[in-house]
Amino acid sequence: MHGGRQTLRPFTRQIVPAFLTMLLVVLVTGMSPAKAQESSRPDVVLTAEGEAVHFSGMLFDGHNDLPWEIRDKGNSSFDILDISKDQPTLHTDIARLKKGGLKAQFWSVYVPAAADKNGDALSQTLHQISIVKSMVKRYPETFEFASTADDIERIVKAGRIASMMGVEGGYSIENEISNLQRLYDEGCRYMTLTHSKSLTWADSATDEPRVNGLSDFGKDVIREMNRLGMMVDLSHVSPETMRQSLAITKAPVMFSHSSARAICDHPRNVPDDVLLLVKQNGGVVMVNFFSAFVAPTEVLKKNKEARGTLHDVVDHIDHIVKLAGVDHVGIGSDFDGVPRLPHQLESVATYPLITQELLNRGYDRASIHKILGGNMMRVLRAAEHVKNELNSPSK
Ligand SMILES: [Zn+2]
Repeated sequence: MHGGRQTLRPFTRQIVPAFLTMLLVVLVTGMSPAKAQESSRPDVVLTAEGEAVHFSGMLFDGHNDLPWEIRDKGNSSFDILDISKDQPTLHTDIARLKKGGLKAQFWSVYVPAAADKNGDALSQTLHQISIVKSMVKRYPETFEFASTADDIERIVKAGRIASMMGVEGGYSIENEISNLQRLYDEGCRYMTLTHSKSLTWADSATDEPRVNGLSDFGKDVIREMNRLGMMVDLSHVSPETMRQSLAITKAPVMFSHSSARAICDHPRNVPDDVLLLVKQNGGVVMVNFFSAFVAPTEVLKKNKEARGTLHDVVDHIDHIVKLAGVDHVGIGSDFDGVPRLPHQLESVATYPLITQELLNRGYDRASIHKILGGNMMRVLRAAEHVKNELNSPSK
């Protein structure tokens, strides 16, 4: 019965099933053989050149939720979660930050969208700000608080991690424009207009629209942010809110933690038409590492729990570079804010592998340095410039 099979030589016995499997994958999924093999792309291995390029750049991550984890898991105390010691339950601790070569960070002072309903979003946000300030105070050899782009450069030269803050969710201003000044004075340098729920003045990407983009108040929020030099963060908002914000902002915008929708079709990601508007605006899209936003659509369709890999994250970077250019992409990991991360991007220690993979794909040193943080620095300086222009007496 099995005579036909048994006459095959051992080599052929391995090759034929492999070929049939690939044929089956192609027939069933409609994927090209190259695409079908993507999930098995080899691990990235850091070389001396990769390390040199990485550590000579200025890695500036757009979004890390450590302050929330300290509140949630550590009762807001670095005595309970001391990051000078290894903290395997977190994505972030000081030893791994050093290994990852992080130079500057926007620490998120996120509070849950439920705070909007409770009416205490501002006071909760101020609490989160106090956690970041206590971290900088407790580990002064590692962190220093930065208010300006010049501050960041000075702090990085001194060998410390420049620390800025970003507000996540416009409900933190409790519908009062003057609270933007308050948060700016506390050191916040961007605000994400919404989180997961639509507001009375801006729509979220993951909720029903309430105002079809921005209300008049929402537009006033953007004008005031421009005047203060607080960057407009368009992560989490609906595509229509992105477009309307891009139409009225006088300063370049940022997406502190969002990836490309063409690669992974999730509402949190940025559609191609908006990527082209960001190019015109001079802004930056900082690629998020969360598995559910980066694993390719076809992989997630088959397995919602797929983690994706470092290669997938670099595919997002590649896509934004091809469409908008190398001046408009950055890194916005979302470490300590997400439950699942891609293979080889499990913690802040792994950033150098992104640099390595960019090198492997033919990116030169100058382009890699733009992606790591040069672009974010340009956007921050532009926001400072717009602030000066809008506040100069001759205008
Ligand atoms: Zn977020």
